[in-house]
Amino acid sequence: MQKAKELAKRCVHCGFCLEVCPTYVVTRSEVHSPRGRIAAVSLGFDSVGIDTCVFCRRCEEACPSGVEFGKLMSFTRKPNLLELSVHRALENPKELYHTLLLAKRFSFLPWSKRIAEFVPEPQEPFEYEDEGASLNLFAGCLAPVLFQSSVKNALQFLKAKHKVRLINGCCGLAHYSEGERERAYLLAKELEKRSKGGVVVSLPSNCSAFIKGYGEFGLSVHCYDFCEYLVSFDLPKVELTLTVHDPCHSKIAGLSVYTREVLRKMGVQIVEMDDPSFECGAGGGYFVKQTELSDAILSEKTKKLQATGCETVVSNNFACSLALRRAGFKTLHVADLLR
Ligand code: SF4
Ligand code: SF4
Repeated sequence: MQKAKELAKRCVHCGFCLEVCPTYVVTRSEVHSPRGRIAAVSLGFDSVGIDTCVFCRRCEEACPSGVEFGKLMSFTRKPNLLELSVHRALENPKELYHTLLLAKRFSFLPWSKRIAEFVPEPQEPFEYEDEGASLNLFAGCLAPVLFQSSVKNALQFLKAKHKVRLINGCCGLAHYSEGERERAYLLAKELEKRSKGGVVVSLPSNCSAFIKGYGEFGLSVHCYDFCEYLVSFDLPKVELTLTVHDPCHSKIAGLSVYTREVLRKMGVQIVEMDDPSFECGAGGGYFVKQTELSDAILSEKTKKLQATGCETVVSNNFACSLALRRAGFKTLHVADLLR
């Protein structure tokens, strides 16, 4: 907590971050604003606002004073039992598969009902490794179980060019965002080990952003976001008009430009929405923990999507895709356009 208080000292209370914060936008309450959260940390009192933060880090991008809000939250939060259970399931795709299967079958239980509303039928994750693999495809935690066709499409594209090792698992972002910093570090170490010194191409774009930030743990994994990697290749032409959702962390890491570059190279027509990185409300496990706020944020996002007139959204982060699908849109990862 001392570390969080030190980070909070940079805040000059200007409020420039308020209008970009999704929880402030839907509540108009200082308690649910970045400035209110920082005040609670500085003064050392418990605030419900600490739990309601989506951990999108949009406030960090807007802050003229350089407050490292994400890091501050990671030192402030302490995971509860539900969060710890979600983290453990995310670490092991096979366990996640069985957990989601249970949630779908027993959707009358309060915690599972919400999950069942958001997630499609889970699929048992598969493994893949070429003899002498030199390139790693990191599929993350959700895609191997819920978006397997995107994993297969990406794998098929990369296999034509390299010997590939598929890595299913967790990058540690969920743990970090909810205060399990040590566990996040161990997962980062694990990914470093599993990648065997090879390049990692990360399919979920928020994971790409987090892996690129492993320097905070004193680790270094040579990571490309999937679109960042695609940019230099010849790509198939696709006749499609769609809009693009920019997952929050990948936007901050500057990865949105690669998504657009790849789509333009493929001849896709993009209808830009207002504020494409405005949150979707999924936020890892946020949609399970903060149901009302999550729905209110998704409702704001839905208005922005509807204004484009598009039915299809490119979303390169799978947790976001769950929320956007729930709002009635067809989602595609860029990998799905390579078929
Ligand atoms: S991380 Fe996102 S939800 Fe949390 S305070 Fe910052 S802008 Fe608001
Ligand atoms: S976090 Fe940054 S933008 Fe927000 S009130 Fe503090 S100094 Fe201003």
